[in-house]
Amino acid sequence: MDGLDELYNDLIMEHSMNSYNKKKLDNADFSELGHNPNCGDEIQIEMKVKGNVIEDMAFSGHGCAISQASTSIMIDTLRGKTIEEAKQIISTFIGMIKREITDDEELRIIEDAIAFKNVSNMPARVKCALLAWHTIEKIINEHDFSSDETKTYTDEVENNSHCNLN
Ligand code: ZN
Repeated sequence: MDGLDELYNDLIMEHSMNSYNKKKLDNADFSELGHNPNCGDEIQIEMKVKGNVIEDMAFSGHGCAISQASTSIMIDTLRGKTIEEAKQIISTFIGMIKREITDDEELRIIEDAIAFKNVSNMPARVKCALLAWHTIEKIINEHDFSSDETKTYTDEVENNSHCNLN
């Protein structure tokens, strides 16, 4: 169990014990259940999207401290982000847990979720930490947000279409 002391730092404890993100959303646009049979974690994630921006998220269900804290911190990190930003953050978090991304500069975009960096040393907890992230990744990958009729802008700005060739 080496590393647990480091793992259960104040931030993780705070989010796992009494998360303000653990609630139901009114009129959620998306809802997906994430299940981790290894540990028994079952976490339902709800998301409201406006245009291509994640307006709000919340979770319910039960799970170990790591899965709950990871879910709550993920929600804080992704709230207010665009779908494109969220994709980048999610893949960076998963890359960190898989030890494929170790550079602190690259990890900056995941904000407080960097608290889970040590989970990569604990194979038994990796699935707990990744549960929520894989769940939200599934929602995002299964929907084409670019064709959303509520999209706030429709014109792609081509920055290089009038570039100075000199
Ligand atoms: Zn767990």
